[in-house]
Amino acid sequence: MIDLAEFARANGVRYFMISYTDLFGGQRAKLVPAQAIADMAVEGAGFAGFATWLDLTPAHADLMAVPDPSSVIQLPWKPEVAWVAATATMEGKLVDQAPRNVLKRLIAEAAKEGLRIKTGVEPEFFLLSADGKEVSDPHDTAVKPCYDQNALMRRYDVIAEICDYMLALGWEAYQNDHEDATGQFEMNWKYDDALRTADKHSFFKFMVRTIAEKHGLRATFMPKPFKGLTGSGCHAHISVWDLDGKRNAFTDGEKELGLSDRGRCFLGGIMRHASALAAITNPTVNSYKRINAPRTVSGATWAPNTVTWTGNNRTHMVRVPGPGRFELRLPDGAANPYLLQAVIIAAGLDGCRTEADPGPRHDIDMYREGHTVQGAPRLPLNLLDALRDYDRDETLKAMMGEEFSRAFVKLKTEEWNAYCSHFSEWERDNTLDI
Ligand code: ADP
Ligand code: MG
Ligand code: MG
Ligand code: MG
Ligand code: MG
Repeated sequence: MIDLAEFARANGVRYFMISYTDLFGGQRAKLVPAQAIADMAVEGAGFAGFATWLDLTPAHADLMAVPDPSSVIQLPWKPEVAWVAATATMEGKLVDQAPRNVLKRLIAEAAKEGLRIKTGVEPEFFLLSADGKEVSDPHDTAVKPCYDQNALMRRYDVIAEICDYMLALGWEAYQNDHEDATGQFEMNWKYDDALRTADKHSFFKFMVRTIAEKHGLRATFMPKPFKGLTGSGCHAHISVWDLDGKRNAFTDGEKELGLSDRGRCFLGGIMRHASALAAITNPTVNSYKRINAPRTVSGATWAPNTVTWTGNNRTHMVRVPGPGRFELRLPDGAANPYLLQAVIIAAGLDGCRTEADPGPRHDIDMYREGHTVQGAPRLPLNLLDALRDYDRDETLKAMMGEEFSRAFVKLKTEEWNAYCSHFSEWERDNTLDI
């Protein structure tokens, strides 16, 4: 167990950033001087929970964010500050709906059944002008800009700085590329235990935004910032291991695509709950402009439309790229890093408990031949459909926690209602002369 006061002394840390993540993925923090960390490490830093998205009232007691020392990360670009993820508590009890608490509970449930989930995420993002209105690089205009060598090098200063930081933090970063939309990039680091991946994913978003700003740019993980361009996904790669982390329980060389029976059932759970879990993996109004989208100018959206799976083929919701893991291509850049991991475990665990069958795999180009597949459900067309699917899925709701599910559906439905009551140019364009 790391002692934070000792950590500060040994590493020259002057301030701790005690951080928790709310239901909408917002990272909330207090800067606590190292001199005060010893008390805070026990009591936690106090927050007015109502002021963040957790469905608490102004009358609730203080939310106390108790730092989890195992998550501490010294900011590589400002080493006198250290970020530390916190456990949200109130009057000595866990705040059940707080995303990191939801994830920790599901990890513990999986562990009771001998399962240890390891995941990797691929968060795509755009580098925009400082005002957020356009792609920052005026020369980045190709129809097929994926892997564009010159465009990548024109952003070398930003990308290499972030990658160097990941290397320094020991994340085992291994590649960076220009993605399929103009202005879009992806950076990859090695998979880890689900909680560690969620903490790294949170920190990565914070780091990318910060370093982009430092270079006079604005980074966004918005799922579909530009009509007609490929959106920003956040694919998740999933494998399940024995508790000691040594044997991949998803690998079985004798089985279809090298996926063990347990892996197949876990996948079956993902397939069964897909339409409902989309409310969490695709949590914004804008998310539904990435999935179910018309072809982009590059030729493909690279995002799924239906609940189907396959081998090494990127046109389906789930791809099995090789033995021992699968890739869920549904999540987007707006997914809350903790809830993303939590809902994967919840759905997969239900699949394992009930020996869920993922159904037949389809080795076709879904973008061209999707209409030939019989019986595959379409993914929700908008946030409201997804929220309704989530609300109908009693099993998934219970596994994510009743308190969490109630708060999430309530706040997200309010967000949908706010969107619907907003008057848009589209209405004028299409209704003025009626
Ligand atoms: P692609 O773009 O082909 O989908 P990437 O290389 O961008 O793949 O991302 C792959 C992600 O999957 C990385 O985070 C990697 O560490 C992770 N990964 C690889 N093997 C496993 C595994 N066995 N379990 C979980 N994640 C894995
Ligand atoms: Mg005050
Ligand atoms: Mg990738
Ligand atoms: Mg990608
Ligand atoms: Mg991928």
